[in-house]
Amino acid sequence: MTEHRITVAGVAVDTRHWIGGERIASADSFTDVSPIDGRALGEIARGGPAEAAAAVAAAKAAFPAWAATPRAERARILHAVADGVEKRIEELAIVETTDNGALLRSHRRGVMPRVAHNFRFFADWLLTLDHEDFETRGHTNRVSWDPAGPCVLITPWNAPLMLATWKVAPALAAGNSVVLKPAEWSPLTASLLADIAAEAGLPAGVLNVVQGYGAEIGEALTSNPDVRRISFTGSVPTARRIAESAALNLTPLSLELGGKSPLLVFADADLDLAVDLAVEQYDNAGQVCLAATRFLVEESAAEEFTRRFVDKATALRQGDPRDETTDIGPNIHPRQLEKIDGFVQRALASGARAVIGGHRGDGQYYAPTLLTDVRQDSEIVQEEVFGPVLTLQTFADEDEAIRLANDTRFGLAATVATGSRERADRVTPRLVAGTVWVNCFFVRDLQAPFGGSRLSGVGREGGTWSFDFYCDLKNTVSAPKGWEHNHG
Ligand code: NAD
Repeated sequence: MTEHRITVAGVAVDTRHWIGGERIASADSFTDVSPIDGRALGEIARGGPAEAAAAVAAAKAAFPAWAATPRAERARILHAVADGVEKRIEELAIVETTDNGALLRSHRRGVMPRVAHNFRFFADWLLTLDHEDFETRGHTNRVSWDPAGPCVLITPWNAPLMLATWKVAPALAAGNSVVLKPAEWSPLTASLLADIAAEAGLPAGVLNVVQGYGAEIGEALTSNPDVRRISFTGSVPTARRIAESAALNLTPLSLELGGKSPLLVFADADLDLAVDLAVEQYDNAGQVCLAATRFLVEESAAEEFTRRFVDKATALRQGDPRDETTDIGPNIHPRQLEKIDGFVQRALASGARAVIGGHRGDGQYYAPTLLTDVRQDSEIVQEEVFGPVLTLQTFADEDEAIRLANDTRFGLAATVATGSRERADRVTPRLVAGTVWVNCFFVRDLQAPFGGSRLSGVGREGGTWSFDFYCDLKNTVSAPKGWEHNHG
């Protein structure tokens, strides 16, 4: 039905939900707007409790057959989904860029290939996941991973398809059925994923995609008693709401939340490398949960580091994210821009100094900003901005660096720039973070545990940790050998 399709950069996207293998319309809709030029892309079906209930019911009905599907067959279908993603990389990339404003070149060459890899990786990992046997006084313990049931996956707008498939792929590989709710500011690629999964032969109801606002359809999903897992990536306030809903049914939760991660630059570091790592923090217009937004620089290197950083940062090209030469695109939404500017203006009013930026750009762009003269207990150092806003503080010695690095409520990541292996080995164990990078940034292997400490999250995903979360682990204990004869 043509009225339920919009065309985005030449790609047709169905704006309805995908429930039980069918496109389902809603009476209400919300407008999806492109952050590039503020243009309305179209009206998207806005689900509520009825659509949530229908999607969970469809997932529940599809679960037993998918859970019983041999692993090799599940893996084959997930590889077919990856093939479908690879065939449509260009389409997915341009739709995602139009919808959320992140760079087209990263979507084309980094993100969308990674989306396909998410499916391949977990399909292959599933096949290596064998039961583990051990003995107790002659008895055999057999530990196995049983599919848990319908999973609700709720995702944010900053890397929509990447973050959604980082959950969808292991949940499906594990034998679960899924209800995915993408963020209302960037819902389009999730709808394309539903098309791709159907073409790949994923049975109806195994993957369901619903759209709408968190308070409407999100809460109805997370409080549904038939849901066996909730995996959420997003902000801390939303995580609290979800945890409250999940508490009703004691539904197990995985939470990947915000951060305020540090970049520690020691005077013995290769300063050019440290500056490269620092400038990378403007990636995705600063809308990256892992971003090292707090530069902590050893006093003796601070002046030179700042000079080289300013040279490099002011050479970045801000503009249309579809242009291959653009380095920084727009921020997602006028509300996000307001939020970013509020943080910056309050910091400036309380004594911070803008080394660069400190103000809005044209349209939905924010000038890349570096603030200094900031107090450790100030809002700008303690709270996640989620925009191209970085702070710089100095430290006198290793102890002070570690104290400042650990002194927020978050613990998602930390990056250390140093030329000394001994120093790296001393410092990294003392940092509170789910991921620590030494002289590198954003290198991420799907078999590594990923997640945050403190307010940055609950639980870890990746490799076996994903299967631990998306499965019910079972231990089957058998009596010592010989009983088989007694029971024929
Ligand atoms: P958000 O919390 O506002 O929304 C995330 C999702 O939750 C959306 O789909 C939204 O509709 C839904 N939601 C909102 N209220 C809900 C409710 N009451 N019940 C159920 N669902 C609800 O987050 P955002 O602004 O979309 O994303 C930015 C945040 O995500 C930042 O804090 C960022 O650090 C974090 N993030 C974390 C990671 C990570 O892996 N740790 C990755 C990316 C983003």
